[in-house]
Amino acid sequence: MSRKPIIAGNWKMNLLQSDAKALFEGIKAFCADKSATVLPTIVIAPTFTSLSVVNSVKCDCGCGGTKISVAGQNCHWESSGAFTGEISVEMLADAGCSYVIIGHSERRQYFSETDEMINKKAKAILAKGLIPIICCGETLEQREAGVTDSWIAGQIKAALEGISSEDVAKSVIAYEPIWAIGTGKTCDSDEANRVIAMIRNVVKEVAGASAADSIRILYGGSVKPSTIAEQMSKSDIDGALVGGASLKAESFNQIIENTMTVMVK
Ligand code: PEP
Repeated sequence: MSRKPIIAGNWKMNLLQSDAKALFEGIKAFCADKSATVLPTIVIAPTFTSLSVVNSVKCDCGCGGTKISVAGQNCHWESSGAFTGEISVEMLADAGCSYVIIGHSERRQYFSETDEMINKKAKAILAKGLIPIICCGETLEQREAGVTDSWIAGQIKAALEGISSEDVAKSVIAYEPIWAIGTGKTCDSDEANRVIAMIRNVVKEVAGASAADSIRILYGGSVKPSTIAEQMSKSDIDGALVGGASLKAESFNQIIENTMTVMVK
């Protein structure tokens, strides 16, 4: 089974519109002379206020905007209504998004998002034809207590509850150990691969072998140009969700370039 790698940049609450435009243009320039078949799937998740700016400079190299996809960093599961401060999947689609990151540990931690909410968001995203990037991961305390696998299996089962195998196959999961996010401490790549293979087994259990073979499972947590080739060389790691290193075109483009060296699995 060959799974096209994904390199996704999560810009979090960073960059004003002019900076977002300049960064996006830097990534676009790097991709311009490369065919979509040699590039990984590239996904950029700017702030909501920069979505239209980024889409206004989306690829105009003749690829029809297919080289770089745009993601929301969050969504609500309802289509519209009295939910002050929220954004719906339709609104994200309308602003040019084809992916939505959900269940990021920062949202779970600072905004009290539960597995149940993440499951509702995943269903709403898939119902509108977009792709959820479902984040999961353990704290350092959980790792040290030896409950990493059971914790993550629980997060994945809850997130995928009631979703058809066909929709699971299209989805993306990002394994992001919380202790590795923004800390500069990368999870050992064999260990990341082991956890991701475990996640794939959970997907097999809940959605069948075909969905488990198709779903792309990324690693996230202090990914840098110097770490990505080894991470991508592992059997089950299908790409990366990148935070800090996605905020500079130089480092993000280098991550894409290094991914291209180990593209075919
Ligand atoms: C993230 O927040 O999803 C992330 C992986 O951040 P960083 O790459 O900065 O660790």
